[in-house]
Amino acid sequence: MIHPETKLKWVSTEIGYGVFATQHIPKGTAIYVRDALEIVVSKNSGLAQSPVYKDILTKYSYIDAKGDYILSWDHGRFVNHCCHPNTITTGYGFEIAIRDIAPGDEITDDYGLLNIEEDIPLSCGKNNCRGMARARDFDTYAAHWDSVVRQALTHFNQVEQPLLPFFEAKILDALQHYLRTGSDYLSVHTQKYDGPEGHPKMDSLYAAMSSRGLEASLD
Ligand SMILES: [Zn+2]
Repeated sequence: MIHPETKLKWVSTEIGYGVFATQHIPKGTAIYVRDALEIVVSKNSGLAQSPVYKDILTKYSYIDAKGDYILSWDHGRFVNHCCHPNTITTGYGFEIAIRDIAPGDEITDDYGLLNIEEDIPLSCGKNNCRGMARARDFDTYAAHWDSVVRQALTHFNQVEQPLLPFFEAKILDALQHYLRTGSDYLSVHTQKYDGPEGHPKMDSLYAAMSSRGLEASLD
């Protein structure tokens, strides 16, 4: 679910739609959370193999640490990439604002954290544009992304969090434990799909999510 104070807006023929803030959203705010209504398409399902649906999934979903496609039921699926994004994926199943976002600003994230299957050419126009989002961006940039996320998380309990009711209790417990003690931080790297084994640390957290999520399949 995307933050309620956002709206869908046409950007250009080249880019299509984008998501824009409708009010000031402070740094540390959860901008997206994987809620129980998100559509989970198992990587092994007929739907994920279907040539008809595959293109839609590739364009509009991200892949979680289990390798499943997560398709947002709301306009969260229209968030565009930027090499200088104002939100970033965390190890806790949500995206966080890493700086203050002004009304009218486009909400952007980094596709390097979404387990893309093929390289995606980038044209965000920023000076530091990487030119290409690659699956291995996870390994290249995880340490940098973690430092940015940890800094933004210091604001988490000080700002309004309209998406908080949609956090899984176990995820929120794990997050508050980290914020309280400074230990057991979940790196963004836990979100990387590393093959069928996955990340043992995340298994119980994802079990809690998928038991409540919709399982879409054509099997
Ligand atoms: Zn770029």
